Amino acid sequence: MSTKPRAAVFLDRDGTLNEEVDFLSDPELLVMIPGAATAVARLNAKGIPVVVVTNQSGIGRGKYDWGDFAAVMSRMEDLLALENARIDAVYASPHHEKARGEYAVADHPERKPNPGMLLRAAAEHGLDLSHSWMVGDKDIDLEAGRRAGCKVALVRTGYGSQVDGSAADLVAASLPEAVDLILAQWP
Ligand SMILES: [Mg+2]
Repeated sequence: MSTKPRAAVFLDRDGTLNEEVDFLSDPELLVMIPGAATAVARLNAKGIPVVVVTNQSGIGRGKYDWGDFAAVMSRMEDLLALENARIDAVYASPHHEKARGEYAVADHPERKPNPGMLLRAAAEHGLDLSHSWMVGDKDIDLEAGRRAGCKVALVRTGYGSQVDGSAADLVAASLPEAVDLILAQWP
């Protein structure tokens, strides 16, 4: 069996896959970015691992819990499945300096802009970070991807209209365009 590392596409969740909602915890409020599910399906069809990496300090701060997070992700999986799309792995960081208990960690290595979630995903799934991409709507996504050794793409959805795109390898209106551009230069 081949264990050759594979390049992946890492995706931020809120503002990248789905419309930004402050501390999203209700599956009923989940709205996908137009074309996002089809874009994920295109990556799936190429055999490219799709990994979600999402800061979820709302869990650490007690605004919602892992069950709420799982319910939102389950709803997202259902909406993706309608377009024959799927996410291969999900990483979430509940840490925050103002969090409670064990999650009260300032600058935790897994909280973006730190690259810990990407590094762990690479170790657990045999991913080639140097040929992988990170796509997100915030500076912290670009920084996390860069520090993990990935190429980075900014989408203008979510908070993306407020970000200086000069730090990105590519800038796209939204996830479908980002996937088009990434696939056009896929190794
Ligand atoms: Mg985001």
